[in-house]
Amino acid sequence: MLKVHCISSGSCGNCTVFETEQDAVIIDAGITLRDFDAGLDYFGVNPAKLRKVFITHRHSDHIKGAGPISRKHRMSVVADNYTLAEIHRADPKIYDARVMNIGSDMSVGEMNISSFATSHDTQTSCAYCVRTADTKVCLVTDTGVITPAIAANVRGSDLLILESNYDEEMLDESNYPAYLKHRIRSAFGHLSNGDAADFIADFIESGGENTHFWLAHLSRENNTPVIARARTCELLHKALGVDKNIEVALRDTPSLTRCLN
Ligand SMILES: [Zn+2]
Ligand SMILES: [Zn+2]
Repeated sequence: MLKVHCISSGSCGNCTVFETEQDAVIIDAGITLRDFDAGLDYFGVNPAKLRKVFITHRHSDHIKGAGPISRKHRMSVVADNYTLAEIHRADPKIYDARVMNIGSDMSVGEMNISSFATSHDTQTSCAYCVRTADTKVCLVTDTGVITPAIAANVRGSDLLILESNYDEEMLDESNYPAYLKHRIRSAFGHLSNGDAADFIADFIESGGENTHFWLAHLSRENNTPVIARARTCELLHKALGVDKNIEVALRDTPSLTRCLN
């Protein structure tokens, strides 16, 4: 049994909980301790199960609560060397730090957590795969492109949590400065709704018919859950003739949960 709960997802703060009978880990701690505790409560997660915080990269929407959350719940913070150094710089008193190089893995009870590189505007950044004996869940956000390595790593997921950051038209029409638009669209920025939809269509076509999909890390200014879902569903219908139940993780509030067996 592996339960996944999304406490918060988006450019304002990210945090997802993975829970088995005995243990729980979180990926990213970009929210306040107060919101984290409220999220645990909302999903009924027993805090005594919390073991480790895995961090994807150094941006504040992924690390800003790492100090307080790790201290209160006595969780080790796990990341590559560079990201750990950045977390230490932001908060020198995190509870405990463990290095996990990108491309390696670590076991926590029945869970095995492995990381693989993403393409983002930080020195290092990664996505994670959480496996139990019979389930696989991958979380991929903050990447400008889906590299062949990302595509290979997420193959066979029961649940794929995938960035769908911005709507192309909304970004075009936004009053973001040109350099920021360029940064977001670049190979080291974020995935658009169209990028996510294209990848999901390919993924389903190459054997992913039974996979569940959560769209994640939506921009506050340049996307909405309705638009992100509609874009993906429309493209899947056009490309494959299938109607798929695509779910959208909300910003700032606990939203999606799934129990995989
Ligand atoms: Zn982010
Ligand atoms: Zn980022």
